[in-house]
Order: sequence, then C-alpha cells, then structure tokens
Amino acid sequence: MQSKPSIPVDCCASPGLISVDEAIKSMLGAASAIVETEKIKIEDSLNRILAEDIIATLNVPGYDNSAMDGYAVRCEDISAGVSLNISQRIPAGTTGKPLEPGTAARIFTGAPVPPGADAVVMQEKCHADNGRVSINTEVRAASNIRRAGEDIADGSTVLKTGQRIRPQEMGLLASVGCAEFKVKRQLKVAVFFTGDEIVSPGQPLQAGQIYNSNQYTITGFLQALNVEIINLGMVADTLEDTVRVLQQAASAADLVVTSGGVSVGEEDYVRLALEQLGKLSMWRIAMKPGKPVAFGKVGQALFLGLPGNPVSVFVTGLLFARPLILKLQGATQTAAPKLMATANFDWPSGGRQEYLRVRIDNTGNAPVACLYPHQGSGVLSSASWSDGLVEAAVNQPIKSGDKVSYIPFQGLF
Ligand code: AMP
Ligand code: MG
Repeated sequence: MQSKPSIPVDCCASPGLISVDEAIKSMLGAASAIVETEKIKIEDSLNRILAEDIIATLNVPGYDNSAMDGYAVRCEDISAGVSLNISQRIPAGTTGKPLEPGTAARIFTGAPVPPGADAVVMQEKCHADNGRVSINTEVRAASNIRRAGEDIADGSTVLKTGQRIRPQEMGLLASVGCAEFKVKRQLKVAVFFTGDEIVSPGQPLQAGQIYNSNQYTITGFLQALNVEIINLGMVADTLEDTVRVLQQAASAADLVVTSGGVSVGEEDYVRLALEQLGKLSMWRIAMKPGKPVAFGKVGQALFLGLPGNPVSVFVTGLLFARPLILKLQGATQTAAPKLMATANFDWPSGGRQEYLRVRIDNTGNAPVACLYPHQGSGVLSSASWSDGLVEAAVNQPIKSGDKVSYIPFQGLF
C-alpha cells in the first residue's frame, strides 16, 4: 500500500481552499459558448461542435432491403420441403421487378426487396440447383428485411446543435446525405509555459534543467479537442516577461492556458501577472494533485493557469481545461463520464480530494482498479501506465474491496 503524508482532516475547511466541484461549477458558470459559426465539409468535422439541428430529408434505409444473401419469397408459398423456381436475380445497386407468385428471387445483402416478397431466407438454409431453390426452414413474415426508415425516418432530427462530432456522427451525417453543415467556429487557445529550468526536447540539458513535458500534455489535450493553438512558447520567470506574454496571449485568443508559476513561491509570476492585467477568480483547490489552479479573465479572454508538476497538469487538464474548452466550444456534453470498479488497494483519506492513477483489470467478472505504486505529482509514468483516475473523496478512506468511481481516459481524447 502506498503511504502518504498525513493531512489534517479539517484542512479542506481552511481559508481559501475550495472544493473541486465548486471550482468546476464556478469556472463553467463564467464561460459562455462562442456564437460565431462556419460551414464546413464533413471530412473536416471531426471533434467540431454542430451549430445547427440536422433534420433528415430522406428515410434511411431508403427502401426495404435484404439483410442477407439469400432468396426473397412470399411466405404463403412456403411449406415443408418446397421447391421454387428462381425467377430473377437482384444484386445490390439494382432494382428487381415484382415477384411472381410461387417463385423466389435470388437476392444479395442491401438489394431492394421486390414488391410482393415478404421475407428473405438466408442462403445457408436453402439448396439451389438447376434454376430452382428448395427451402429447408420455417419462414416468418418480414424476416431478414431491413425496413425503409427503420434507422432514420424522413423529417426526424438526426443530430442536435451542440453535438460533438465523433467518427460515428461523421458516418451518420453522411448517411443522410449531409456533405456540409454549420459548426461553431474553432476556439482559439493561446498557451505558454513558465519555468527557467525547462528546455524543449531536442535540446541538450544543462545542470538543473528539465524537459518541457507540460507543453505536450497540454497541446495533446488541445489537439484532441480540435482547437486552434497559438503557442507562445516558454516564458522567463520574470514578472515583466510574464505580463508581456500574457497580454499578447489574451489579445489573440478566446482562452489562455499556461503551466507553472501559479503557486505561492517568489518565482511564481503567472498569478501576479494575472492580478496585474485582469481578474483572478480562484486559485487554491482542495485537490491532489493540482492544488494551485488559477482561473480568471484578461480583457475578453478567459484564463486557466494549470500547475507546473507534470501529473498535476494532466489531472487538472482533464478536470478543468477539457470541460472549460467544451463549454466554450458550445458542446452540450462537457462532463467526463464516470464508471465503477472494485478497488484492490487501501488508501487513507485526507482533506483534499485525490485523483489516483489506476489501471483497470477486466480479466475477472467485474472491473478491478489497481493502483500505480508511485502517486507523486511529478511521476508522469503513472498517467501513462493508467486507464483512469479514481476519485478518492475527502475524509473517506478506501478499503480494498470497496466500490470506487473512476474517470476512464478512453473516449476523452
Ligand atoms: P511551479 O509551479 O512553476 O513551481 O512548478 C512546479 C514543478 O513543476 C517544478 O518542479 C517545475 O520544475 C515543474 N515544471 C514546471 N513547468 C514544467 C514543464 N513545462 N514541464 C515539466 N515540468 C515542469
Ligand atoms: Mg516555476
């Protein structure tokens, strides 16, 4: 079991610390969706947000069609061991003629069922020979026929404004013939990264330096959310530079996201720059990792200052940046889904809500959450190893065998 430093149980109530839920609520309350829209092609729509309701102007399927390769028949012609003349052949992409009574039509998956036929018998249940087919099964009316409009009815609402477009929505839009449609314009997000110790990967490291991993965690989130990224790079740990770049970021973007410099150290200039240029709304959250998170406004732009520690960036990026961006983009669904699993570890509770990196073992009857052995806020391997974050609530210790809720990473990026 992982031990952790003891935290006074009442520290959540200490002045200035607000709960995760309160912080998310107040952050989302201050964010409103962009109003501008643009028309785009379906091929460019992945992870964009729909800005109009899509109404079907046709049925899908457009006509009754066969769900199988087989024979289209009239049920009333079928009796035990019957043999029927094959009167026509209907491949997909063609239309047959009305089925002559007492005959069968050779038919293929997706081909229109000919008028007069009321069932399709799958070919595995038939024996064809010399222009005739014998049917060795009972045949029920409507079997193996996909009805016109059974997926989408002409005139129905296919998708609503605010829907985030995933691959399945791209396919659905195409299925109703929608080649272009209105989406919210792309959100502009400016990013910059603080810390005189950070260096870009690809450069040699000098003593006391580390690689800038946060840039890639954050831009990875932003790429997955399909925003326009304005990358202002690394900023020196001085108030002057931080103010200058923050001003530049805020005038170019809808949202500014940064990492580092939001704590209470003398070298933490982001919070100070925000206070100088705009308004700071909250900055200490009862969570671990990731206590210092700054949220505010500079001019017309919203500001989200994530902590510096790499795991804190990942966790607060998921909990704060993701829903904030979705809300600004105009998405209806902003919250990450939660699932349940059984913990196979003990965890002592503290005064801050903790986000434990776990891997979900699905080899048994029910999912089991297994803890990464090192939960330090600098241990980024924990985030890569894991499938999700268990939420360990304030003052509620977890015992092995307890049901716990977790946020799965799958589907979020
Ligand atoms: P700070 O909040 O600026 O005090 O940073 C907290 C910790 O996060 C320090 O150990 C920093 O070295 C580290 N850190 C800050 N920025 C980055 C970054 N871009 N990539 C990796 N680690 C960082
Ligand atoms: Mg720093």
